[in-house]
Amino acid sequence: MHQYLRDKLYAVETENYGEQLLKENIKKIFAEFKVDEKISPGDRVLMKVNLLMGKDPSRAVCTHPAVVRAVAGEIKALGGRPVLADSPGGPFNQAALKLAYNRSGYTEDAGKGLYELNYNTGSFYGKLESGRRGKSFELCSFIRKADFIINLPKLKTHGLTLYTGAVKNLFGVVPGTVKAGYHFKMPKIRDFCQLLLDIAELVDPDLTIMDAVTGMEGSGPSSGTPRDFKLLLAASDILELDLLVSWLLRGDPSYRNDPLPEAILRRYSQSGESESYGRYGEGNFLKEEIPDWLTRKFREIKLPDIDRTANLLDKRMPDFLKRIVTRLVRPRPVFTSACIGCGICKKNCPPQVISMEQGQARVELEGCIRCFCCQELCPHMAVEIENPLLGRLFF
Ligand code: SF4
Ligand code: SF4
Repeated sequence: MHQYLRDKLYAVETENYGEQLLKENIKKIFAEFKVDEKISPGDRVLMKVNLLMGKDPSRAVCTHPAVVRAVAGEIKALGGRPVLADSPGGPFNQAALKLAYNRSGYTEDAGKGLYELNYNTGSFYGKLESGRRGKSFELCSFIRKADFIINLPKLKTHGLTLYTGAVKNLFGVVPGTVKAGYHFKMPKIRDFCQLLLDIAELVDPDLTIMDAVTGMEGSGPSSGTPRDFKLLLAASDILELDLLVSWLLRGDPSYRNDPLPEAILRRYSQSGESESYGRYGEGNFLKEEIPDWLTRKFREIKLPDIDRTANLLDKRMPDFLKRIVTRLVRPRPVFTSACIGCGICKKNCPPQVISMEQGQARVELEGCIRCFCCQELCPHMAVEIENPLLGRLFF
């Protein structure tokens, strides 16, 4: 079995979701990160899963229940109290949570007493003096009550940030529709990624274990195709983990026009951690140290058409010209005939540019900020991201 360990990063091949295999590998991860020294009997241990929406585990949208089960088992073995929590897209209330837990396969295990399910839908304002995009953020109360936080993301592609992993998973601690407000306030991808980093810093998980046994490629994070990476990845430093996975996805250690790793590197450089920046920046992410067996797993992966044009245009053009050119080259949401008019996208569109006409969703592209929440949250895979011809030619 292949393993990769360096500093605060760990990757272990995990062929499938078999109970015994997961148990062994999660045990190894707990041992590597000395979790037994950090969890005391009676501690409330939060398992922050990816519960974007209630979906069958075979669709690879949410953290697989078998991974949650194995993690909960290890927490219990240490005397801790595992609690599963997340705030899915849309309204954050007990009825919505119940449905999402049920559809994603968590209810049965919770019913057997393997872990608790969070039904606290309260929120509070977390303060972050060092925040770049704010000093105070509305967060779910379940974060506050945890003695130890385990971040359990799913490795998936993402139309806005290229991929959703360790950092992006923590945006789920922003309550339901409040997320749309943050998208609206920060329509520029660079600002949004800095916001993600602020929130990640505020939550500061003790350990991250990424479910990449089966992840997603193509139109992630909800409408893509399941892809077997046959991996569990773990880290005590979520930024290092996301730099590693971004590198593996792109096969390019320069991170050029890849907004999340760019934001991470900028933060390293601004914080004066020149040693870290020198190590990771300018294409230095230890390419030679990443073993072949790991890079092979990401070969020929289908990536989404992320809005790289917006990144470039943000830098280079005056506003009036930008408006004209972006209309011609930026990827845009397209609503297909699979739409059943449920209105979920309309409710969650930050600038409210979606309307319903004859039972079908329509978008007013002029005000669209290309956050792709509509594509992310559509339960019927009725939203596609289309890259206009000019965009395909130039970007
Ligand atoms: S696009 Fe999807 S979310 Fe929006 S109304 Fe149609 S089916 Fe519902
Ligand atoms: S239409 Fe979709 S991509 Fe555009 S702003 Fe609304 S949710 Fe975001």
